Amino acid sequence: MTDIATEATEWFQQHWDPAMPLGDWWRLLADSGFAFPQWPEGFGGRGLSGRDAKAVQEARRAVGAYGPPNGVATFLVAPTLLVMGTPEQQQRYLPGVVDGTTPWCQLFSEPTAGSDMASLGTRAVKDGDEWTVTGQKVWNSGAHYAKCGILIARTDPDAPKHRGVTYFLIDMTQPGVEVRPLREMTGDAAFNEVFFDDARVHDSDRVGADGDGWRIAMTTLSFERDPGNAGLGDTAAFYEADLTVPVGKHAEREKAAADGFSIAMSGRAGEVFDGALASGLKRSSDPVLRDRLARLHVDRTVVGLTGRRGAANMKATGQPGPEIAGLKITGTETGRNVRDIGLEALGAAGMLWGDDVPDGGLFHRYAMFTPAQSIAGGTDEVLRNSIGERVLGLPREPDEAERRETPWKDLRRS
Ligand SMILES: Cc1cc2nc3c(=O)[nH]c(=O)nc-3n(C[C@H](O)[C@H](O)[C@H](O)COP(=O)(O)OP(=O)(O)OC[C@H]3O[C@@H](n4cnc5c(N)ncnc54)[C@H](O)[C@@H]3O)c2cc1C
Repeated sequence: MTDIATEATEWFQQHWDPAMPLGDWWRLLADSGFAFPQWPEGFGGRGLSGRDAKAVQEARRAVGAYGPPNGVATFLVAPTLLVMGTPEQQQRYLPGVVDGTTPWCQLFSEPTAGSDMASLGTRAVKDGDEWTVTGQKVWNSGAHYAKCGILIARTDPDAPKHRGVTYFLIDMTQPGVEVRPLREMTGDAAFNEVFFDDARVHDSDRVGADGDGWRIAMTTLSFERDPGNAGLGDTAAFYEADLTVPVGKHAEREKAAADGFSIAMSGRAGEVFDGALASGLKRSSDPVLRDRLARLHVDRTVVGLTGRRGAANMKATGQPGPEIAGLKITGTETGRNVRDIGLEALGAAGMLWGDDVPDGGLFHRYAMFTPAQSIAGGTDEVLRNSIGERVLGLPREPDEAERRETPWKDLRRS
């Protein structure tokens, strides 16, 4: 065992107490630097390498201790602020991320600006030391309980679409912000529409320069597409946690109630899949199914290997490069294979829904969520375009090349 693994094991054995309130556990974990071991000291980490961070995570799991908070705050907001935020912004916001007291949401997509996000029309207008924000966002995961949001808004309609966008940190609890939940085909309501009507943002909550928001949003999206993101945890994301509940009780409830979103985001897909498969394979000697299973094993191994390569890139530049899009595509493809093979392995039970489903329906909820994985964070088609243009150096679509130079206010928009 390495030194850090020994130290972490001893720490978890000494401190893990399922009777402790969830909020106290998360605070203790953050203060120890074992919450997000790769992040800097003071922000839930110890500046460890990816390999050492993994050793800490394995030590925690071996002891059976519950993990740190997980969600937009940890895998999008924190890494972006660590790379792009001012020291004041990091001090103001990161403590609430690492101890789970400030849930965040991502306010990028709009009804007519999803894949073509740079066309967005939500306006932010400077008013003294503040900005007023008016417009509509959509598909905002966790916005119904978020206290803060990362927002991109148009600040210069005369500039071409990519250049007139600015990145803000916005208070979601203020008047002028209305959140309306949307229900998905899984039956859950994890994402929302968000309406802004003269909502306010102080200028000190602008990330980067006025008009430089596109570059910063791309940084956030590169973290979103990176399965090796150091802020992605193994606890459920996208629900409101009661910080006063004993952490052991919270963990049990979470396991029983996990929705498709949480399973996919918490890295539990593999565990859920293995469970479904083990019960299905007991009954199946179908060579075709077994062959597909072997291929799936290869895909999952490739994702792991590519992830390690992505981690090396992170070490060199501080953020994932555009190549990460390939990893996300392979990951969503693997997710669909897991769904298909898992449902087939379950046989007739694969068609059930509700209380009778094996494993409490955990695998089924994951299966219903898999189509969303190839849309969220950039669709497969758009990511393939990005690989073509940004990795392989292929020419842009002719129309798009012209649109990129046209002032946003003169663009034809739906
Ligand atoms: C589960 C989930 C969670 C999400 N959470 C958030 C969130 O928290 N915050 C947030 O801001 N957004 C979120 N989104 C929104 C997500 O980023 C968008 O749905 C995504 O970018 C696609 O945009 P769209 O839905 O408008 O589809 P469209 O852009 O309308 O695309 C429709 C179809 O056209 C294809 N297409 C579009 N343009 C091209 C092109 N140039 N070339 C080839 N094909 C193209 C697309 O691939 C797709 O198949 C979430 C989405 C999902 C599914």
